[in-house]
Amino acid sequence: MNSIIRDINLAPIGKQKIEWVKRNMPILNSLEQEFKKTRPFEGIRISLSIHLEAKTAYLSKVLAAGGAQMAVTGSNPLSTQDDVAAALVEDGINVYSWYDCTRSEYDKFIDETLSHRPHIVIDDGGDLTHALHTRKSHLLSGVYGGCEETTTGVMRLKALEKEGKLKFPMMAVNDAMCKHLFDNRYGTGQSVWDGINRTTNLIVAGKTVVIAGYGWCGKGVAMRAKGLGAKVIVTEIDPVKAIEAYMDGFSVMTMDEACEHGDIFVTVTGCEKVITKKHFEKMKDGTVLCNAGHFNVEICIPELEQISSSVTQSRKDITCYEMSNGKRLYLLGEGRLVNLACGDGHPAEIMDMSFAVQAYAALYILQHYLELEQKVIDIPEEIDNKIAMMKLKSLGIAIDELTEEQKRYINSW
Ligand code: NAD
Ligand code: SAH
Repeated sequence: MNSIIRDINLAPIGKQKIEWVKRNMPILNSLEQEFKKTRPFEGIRISLSIHLEAKTAYLSKVLAAGGAQMAVTGSNPLSTQDDVAAALVEDGINVYSWYDCTRSEYDKFIDETLSHRPHIVIDDGGDLTHALHTRKSHLLSGVYGGCEETTTGVMRLKALEKEGKLKFPMMAVNDAMCKHLFDNRYGTGQSVWDGINRTTNLIVAGKTVVIAGYGWCGKGVAMRAKGLGAKVIVTEIDPVKAIEAYMDGFSVMTMDEACEHGDIFVTVTGCEKVITKKHFEKMKDGTVLCNAGHFNVEICIPELEQISSSVTQSRKDITCYEMSNGKRLYLLGEGRLVNLACGDGHPAEIMDMSFAVQAYAALYILQHYLELEQKVIDIPEEIDNKIAMMKLKSLGIAIDELTEEQKRYINSW
């Protein structure tokens, strides 16, 4: 089937980007070598939907090196990089995606990706899985199982499972230690500030940053905001997380209160309507708003539009909402994940671990699908430990091993 991308002539720039990340993803390098020899995915069709930039392209190439027939799309309309998509097509991989696609194009790309009749789906946020359980349900019988990349995607799968409607086993890649401990915390922590800083080119030091949600991602974003010299306020709904934020040295308050103080707001909850009209109305002139959670629903954009007298573009990826009293609020990346809509997402070394979990989870599905239930499946501890050891090796770090005597000691009562 023919790929659908913006422009094949962009391939040389995409190739450079893929080569650059490849040099910084040692775990995937060794998996690529292993898969080239063992060809575990020979004859297997994999449909993949993850932010289509260089690291995802490299994951696709590693799976293809293992014999998989890949069909690839992006998991967000603003994160696909057209040059990377072109480079993948030149490498013989089917790609259906372009930057800034419309909602109907996005759905069409998902459907085209599924038209390859996948044995395995690799999803990020649940869009492939959702399509397979609804408008593409005729393809369900051929699916062995899949893997889900992100927190919200795993939550959606658990909701499906609870209703007894999940039709194939799905590996909860996000819940692996080697994923969320590093990707959600250090990855989001760094890449959110990369996205904000490269887009606004404004100082963070001395400003008040409000972070909604103190989960794995929020902790990282708060930690790095502090490092940049910001005063940090956290909003939460979970009392334990709120105490954690307080003990980590941050102010904790409701959004109703925080909205008056913030210069920069980052939502990262996975929830909807976290910042709404009543908050916009109390915000300071010049406030910067952005989101790092799944989807563009955390900042209530319809209400922001409703109270604005004009909406203009200030510069690339910054929309200015001006109120009738002259107050201006600036929204980054249309309220979509700021680190991917306005940047390259997490660094290569981080995605190396996340995507190693993806590759091993796909292999696990292939080897075990006949005995797996149609449920959300935890990543086995052995996979986590193997990837952690590979990461340490790549860093040149050795760790101690328990002696037999120590093993007896810690297992005795
Ligand atoms: P998490 O479950 O660890 O944390 C979410 C936190 O938000 C929780 O502590 C929860 O209590 C809090 N929360 C929920 N609703 C809230 C509300 N209305 N107001 C304030 N706080 C609220 O999840 P996570 O792993 O941190 O992921 C958060 C979101 O970010 C998810 O949607 C996930 O898919 C997405 N994510 C994005 C990236 C990225 O690259 N931008 C990376 C990983 C995950
Ligand atoms: N469709 C959803 C997807 C959730 S994105 C949406 O766009 O709203 C969150 C996921 O993006 C994280 O779990 C993280 O692993 C992934 N991610 C972050 N940086 C990335 C990068 N550079 N390349 C590919 N995926 C990345």
